[in-house]
Amino acid sequence: MKLLLIGHTERYPVEQLQMQLFPDEPSEFVTHRFTGDGTVSSLSRGKKYLTATAKVTKGGKTGFASRRIPLENADVRMTRRILQQSYYLAATKVLGTAPPWGALSGVRPTKLSTKCMLEGGSETDAAKLLEKTYFVTPERSRLCVDASKHTLEAAKLLEPGDLSVYIGIPFCPTRCSYCSFVSESIERFGAFLPPYLEALHREIAYTGKLLADSGYHIRSLYMGGGTPTTLSSPQMKELLRAINDSFDLSRCLEFTVEGGRPDTLDEEKLRVIHDGGATRISINPQTMADDVLAAVGRKHTAAQTVEAFRQARAVGFEDINMDLIAGLPEDTPEKFADSLSQVLALNPSNVTVHTLALKKGANLFQNRTVLPTNEDVSQMLSGAETSLRAHSFVPYYLYRQKYMSGSFENTGWCRPGFTGWYNIYMMEELHTILSLGGGGMNKINLPAGQLERFHNPKSPQDYIARIDTILHQKDEIFEILHKLAQQPAPNEEECE
Ligand code: SF4
Repeated sequence: MKLLLIGHTERYPVEQLQMQLFPDEPSEFVTHRFTGDGTVSSLSRGKKYLTATAKVTKGGKTGFASRRIPLENADVRMTRRILQQSYYLAATKVLGTAPPWGALSGVRPTKLSTKCMLEGGSETDAAKLLEKTYFVTPERSRLCVDASKHTLEAAKLLEPGDLSVYIGIPFCPTRCSYCSFVSESIERFGAFLPPYLEALHREIAYTGKLLADSGYHIRSLYMGGGTPTTLSSPQMKELLRAINDSFDLSRCLEFTVEGGRPDTLDEEKLRVIHDGGATRISINPQTMADDVLAAVGRKHTAAQTVEAFRQARAVGFEDINMDLIAGLPEDTPEKFADSLSQVLALNPSNVTVHTLALKKGANLFQNRTVLPTNEDVSQMLSGAETSLRAHSFVPYYLYRQKYMSGSFENTGWCRPGFTGWYNIYMMEELHTILSLGGGGMNKINLPAGQLERFHNPKSPQDYIARIDTILHQKDEIFEILHKLAQQPAPNEEECE
């Protein structure tokens, strides 16, 4: 879809929304008048008001809308807001439907409700902000406000010098057809695993020394991937020993190991993980329908998931997360509801309901597989919400991704007392995250809500080759952390 701006240069907020509302139409920025499909977004300044107007044309239908604000309120944030609002209102006239997340295009919609509540706003104020200003549906705003309540709890637990650590294992037994992560299958890239672990052990030991001298301490630790349990039991034991030898975990609230694929788990490995200090584990069926598992190339069965869950309980795991994905090929609302009821019968502490996101790197995308419709996915998610709430689960964090079926969301649900802290710290950017291993991103929280990012190389091969540079980068990161620790606490952020 063409996009022409008149009287302003705020391309990003309008274009992001256009890409979200018309995901099948590549966006094309133009600087001249055009005929046919596209958007004209204009901004005009009168004597009293700043007015944003949008004209959206698609398939012979045209929608117009405008929003205005008094000139005295026309700062950058409010200007972007009226540009987005006018675009959204015009586009929905053409679409004939209202998307679940309204005019919000970011990956972290809860940030708005959390900010509002952190600044003293009530749950009703936060819901009103989402629904009236950004046109979010009441169902989604309820998810956000519920999740924000957990963020407030997580924020209260923070102490000066807190940070969290992520350790990445970008290997999997085989590659799922919907996967767009940088994760290498052991079948093809197994030879890289031993040198990868060697490099990772170096990074853990090095970071441990820097941390010990820094005055910072670990609040939560997350081993993700890929599938960390692709490691053999002896490899996992060595890795956990290195973690315990290098890091002081005495103030760590939670240590998660992502088991991911049930076919990588057995009782011995689960015992190693439990005895190595992990307090939480993920066992991810994605679906409990064997035909759907086969359709996405996951080489395990629902029965293996049940057995892995039983073994995890037997070795002592009380806190177990299970992931499901709405929108997989061959799935239906009925089968998805059945998957969830099989998962709930196991009584996990967390259930994370993802929506399929089809990125270009995924085989499923390349093969143009037929997927459940947006209406089906919507039914799956609303049915899941009803069941989860009936089983005393509440949403504790959520996020969105690009290219999600129906433009919905991923939601982490927990039973009371089992909030997944790392997920909140990371997603709500409440404190610094140190990333170790391939594919991770170090994010340092700076004053005034700013972040400084340092990427680790994505592929295991690059990670192995560049380990010395990565260790040097850790020095840089700790220099920044050291400077931050010397600064006085920042003032409270201003209210909206
Ligand atoms: S288990 Fe996860 S990371 Fe591994 S291939 Fe499947 S989707 Fe990708």
